[in-house]
Amino acid sequence: MAGGVQALGRGLVMRCPTCGAGDLFVSYYTMRERCLNCGTAFEREEGYWVGAMIVLIGMTEVLFAIWFVGGMLLTWPDVPWTGLLIGGVVLNLTFPVLGYSWSKTAWMGLHDAFVPEEPAQQAEAITALDARRRAAAFEARDRALAEAAEGEHGAEGTDRSEPGDDPRDAGDHEGFDDTGSGRTR
Ligand SMILES: [Zn+2]
Repeated sequence: MAGGVQALGRGLVMRCPTCGAGDLFVSYYTMRERCLNCGTAFEREEGYWVGAMIVLIGMTEVLFAIWFVGGMLLTWPDVPWTGLLIGGVVLNLTFPVLGYSWSKTAWMGLHDAFVPEEPAQQAEAITALDARRRAAAFEARDRALAEAAEGEHGAEGTDRSEPGDDPRDAGDHEGFDDTGSGRTR
C-alpha cells in the first residue's frame, strides 16, 4: 500500500503517479496523452475522466463547506450572510475552472492508489516510450540531413527526406554524422 500512498501524493501535486515526473500538460487545459518520462498512458480507459469530474466537484463542495461553515463560526453571531453567499457563488464558479488540471492528476493518483497498473499496460507504456524515442531520433537525423543539404546546395536544397533511410541507425548518434558527411561529399 506504500506505493499507493506515493501514487496519490504524486497525483495531488500534479505529477505522474507512476514515476513522479512533472510536465504532464501541453497547455493548462490539454493533458499529454502519455508521460514523457515513463510512457504511461494517462487515460486508462474510455470514460476515465468522469472520475476527475467527481474529484473536482467533490473538492469544490468541500471548499465551499469550509468557506461557509468557517465564515459562520468566525463571525457568529453577526454573520455577513450576503458576503458569505456571494463568496460561495464565486468559489463555485471559479474553482471548477482553476482546479481542472489538478483534478485530473489527483484522480490519476487516487485511481492508481487502489488500482495498480497492470503488466500489460506497463509493457504498452514501454513500447510507446521506445517508439517516441525512435521517432525523435529519426527527426534529429532528418534535421541534420536537411542542414547538410542546405549547406551544400544553398537555396536549392530541396530533397530533405531520404526514402531509403535505414531504421537501424535510429538510436545511434554516430550514424547521423556518417550519413551527413556521406551526403556532403
Ligand atoms: Zn511517468
